[in-house]
Amino acid sequence: MRKVIETFSAQETYTLGKEIGQQAEPGQIYTLTGDLGAGKTVFTQGVAAGLGIREPVNSPTFTIVQIYEEGRIPFYHFDVYRIGDVEEMEEIGYEDYFYGGGVCLIEWADLIWELLPEHYTRITIEKDPSKGFDYRRIIIGGTGD
Ligand code: ADP
Ligand code: MG
Repeated sequence: MRKVIETFSAQETYTLGKEIGQQAEPGQIYTLTGDLGAGKTVFTQGVAAGLGIREPVNSPTFTIVQIYEEGRIPFYHFDVYRIGDVEEMEEIGYEDYFYGGGVCLIEWADLIWELLPEHYTRITIEKDPSKGFDYRRIIIGGTGD
């Protein structure tokens, strides 16, 4: 199933993320793709809020995964941008997160595509300068479903 949502402010993107967080079920994996400044962090903050996480959520710059356990279900926020080799994922025991009953959100997931399970939800955030500075097209498309 593929859905396209247009947002016209950071707040709208946050709210969309929040709705997804509210509906998320244990075991769900989301990948999040988009250029720098697209709104990945804004979206992720919404997801975290929707899961009931109150502590601040930012990009996990120096760690591959940031773990939040205060919400309705655990939230595992990955940023694999700086990964050198998929072996680094093995080292952190990624399978405990992917298959551990929490919700995973993975930024730059293309870099670890061979580790992704069959079923996950791909989210892409695109800008379109012709539609204005604050316009974003958010494509939510499942794989294997
Ligand atoms: P990324 O994590 O993808 O690099 P950020 O979420 O950190 O991007 O930043 C997105 C920036 O774009 C923020 O400054 C935000 O206020 C701004 N922005 C403007 N319009 C939107 C929109 N529709 N959705 C998300 N962010 C937006
Ligand atoms: Mg970011």
